[in-house]
Amino acid sequence: MKKMLVANWKLNPENVDLAVALAKLEDKKQVIICPPTPYLSAVGNVIKRAKLGAQDAFWEKEGPYTGNTSPTHIKSVGAKYVILGHSERRNILQEGDDAINQKVEASLKSGLQVILCIGEDLDSHQRGEKQTKLFITDQIIRGFKNIKWKDLRNIAIAYEPVWAISTSGSGLKDAPEESIKIIQFIKDFLRERYMLKKPVVLYGGSINSKNAENYLINDLIDGVLIGGASLDAKEFNKIIKICLER
Ligand code: PEP
Repeated sequence: MKKMLVANWKLNPENVDLAVALAKLEDKKQVIICPPTPYLSAVGNVIKRAKLGAQDAFWEKEGPYTGNTSPTHIKSVGAKYVILGHSERRNILQEGDDAINQKVEASLKSGLQVILCIGEDLDSHQRGEKQTKLFITDQIIRGFKNIKWKDLRNIAIAYEPVWAISTSGSGLKDAPEESIKIIQFIKDFLRERYMLKKPVVLYGGSINSKNAENYLINDLIDGVLIGGASLDAKEFNKIIKICLER
């Protein structure tokens, strides 16, 4: 399988012209560009090789839900993917597993491919591997609740230890061999509990052009989700090059 490179631009860049310029520079195969929602159309109009993704979707299709964006809205402007359950939404907006599960269900129903973010917090990490595994399996079980088996195949898991995200402020760095061990565990869990033959698991957490190879070299990792480094086209293109050489 070709590795996925998900560019999560978060609340950047500052205006649509900058977004279009950045998208043109990052428009490469295997890349999924996830700009802020208001830029989806403009970015979708200029990319030819990359795919388009959103950073969130609400669970209802339409109705009195001020400020939300539905999976059908996202789909109608050309996005194929949606990131759900990102730790910044879980922590800053107190988005819980039930809400995330509803979003997963609605997004899959609309035909979007879901990138479901999971990952232990600093406290669980410090309490050790057993607690980390409990934390992330709980997130998977809650996120997958009531989803039909045939739809589960349209979910990629992004394993992102919260403390390893560049802006987390923990000051800690992840060791690739540690995350690879957890990704192996996640894949085994998905195979055994959900009978998924080829679970797709990405890694996210301070990936840059210097450490990308350490992750992308491993066949267990199906791709990477990149925050900070995806805002710097030069840096991101170095990571794309490393990925394409794998
Ligand atoms: C993220 O927020 O999902 C992420 C991986 O960010 P960064 O690459 O900046 O650590």
